[in-house]
Parts: sequence; structure tokens; C-alpha cells
Amino acid sequence: MFQTELEKSVLAKTDAVEYPLMEHFYTIQGEGAHTGLPSYFIRTAGCDVQCWWCDVKDSWDESKHPRMKTGEIADLALKSGAPFAVITGGEPLLHDLGPLSFSLRKRGLKVHIETSGSSPLSGHLDWITLSPKRFKKPLDENFPYVDELKVVVLTNKDLQWAEENAAKCPAGTRLLLQPEWDTPKSIPLIVDYVKKNPKWGISLQTHKFINVP
Ligand code: SF4
Repeated sequence: MFQTELEKSVLAKTDAVEYPLMEHFYTIQGEGAHTGLPSYFIRTAGCDVQCWWCDVKDSWDESKHPRMKTGEIADLALKSGAPFAVITGGEPLLHDLGPLSFSLRKRGLKVHIETSGSSPLSGHLDWITLSPKRFKKPLDENFPYVDELKVVVLTNKDLQWAEENAAKCPAGTRLLLQPEWDTPKSIPLIVDYVKKNPKWGISLQTHKFINVP
């Protein structure tokens, strides 16, 4: 009873924590190891990495986006029926993900994150996808917790960058190379590389083929 009351009180506190959100929606995870699975996307605002090819530049300035209470987001995620939430950005680790991940997990959702890894990890995370960016490198302290490494590849230099990061990941990490949607000419390079280096696989932005966000 005491624990239940304590849990209720902790949940009430975490539910009241606010995050700046660019958007949140129920969709299909289009990339990586969980491709094709229904998931609730939560895109936090704010990013200090600033990749020149970023396709969500609107997310960079968190002051341009409304704040939303964790409990409201978590209730919507639960209502959607999604088995897991994907916290993405922006760069989600600019925020302490403790309250958000707690509120989601208390409602029975698993919590996935997609991050550049350039800020310290926080929260209770069930799946960590590291998408490293040269513009602001991942922190070494984050590598032991990575479940999936996903590297966007445009040129040979990116393959070298992918290997540098893979060398820091734990054994068993899913290793994926991903072409950038607007520059598909890297696909033959990736296919050739994966055939010669089969520890890698290919991730495609399948949500763009089926036209979902
Ligand atoms: Fe865009 Fe992500 Fe790079 Fe930030 S880390 S600039 S959100 S691609």
C-alpha cells in the first residue's frame, strides 16, 4: 500500500514535468531494427548538433515550440495502442528524460530513443539507437548502452566514421548503414560495403515509401 501510494505520488510529479515538443504522433517506425512496427513518436525540440543536411531544422530552436506535460503525452501514447514510444528530436538528450520515460513505462509502453549521443544519457530506456554525427561526436560514456548503431552514409568518409563508432559499441549491437533519402546515389556504395562487411546491414527510410510521417 505504501509503495502504491509512493508510486502514485512519484507518477503525479513526473506527469507534471513539461517538455518542449515539436510534434508527437502515432505512426509506423520506418527505420532500423524495429522497421514496420507501430510506434508513438515524440519529437522533442532543441538541437545543438546542427547537421547541414538535417531534415527537421525546425526542431533546433526549442523556444519556438510549445511545452507539454509528460502525463498528457503519455496518456495519448497509451490511448494510441502503440506498444512502444520513440523519443527523437531534435536532440532528445538535451533534456532529462527521466520523467518522460518513467511516465511512459508506468503506462506499459516500452521506451526507445534515437540520439546523436552527444549529451549524457538519461531516463529508463529500453532501446537506444545511436545515430552519430561528426558535427558533435557521441560521448564515449554512452557507447556501452547502445543497442543499435545507425549511420547515414553519403560517401566513403562516412563508412570510415561508421567503423570508428562501431568499434566503440558493445558486442551484439545492431549495425546499420542508411542512405540519405535525397541522395540515393550512395546506395550502390552501401550495398557493396555491406556485402563485403556482413556485420553491417542496411536501414532504409521505409516510412517515406509508404508515405507516413
Ligand atoms: Fe537534425 Fe538530428 Fe542532426 Fe540535430 S542531430 S541537426 S535533429 S539530424
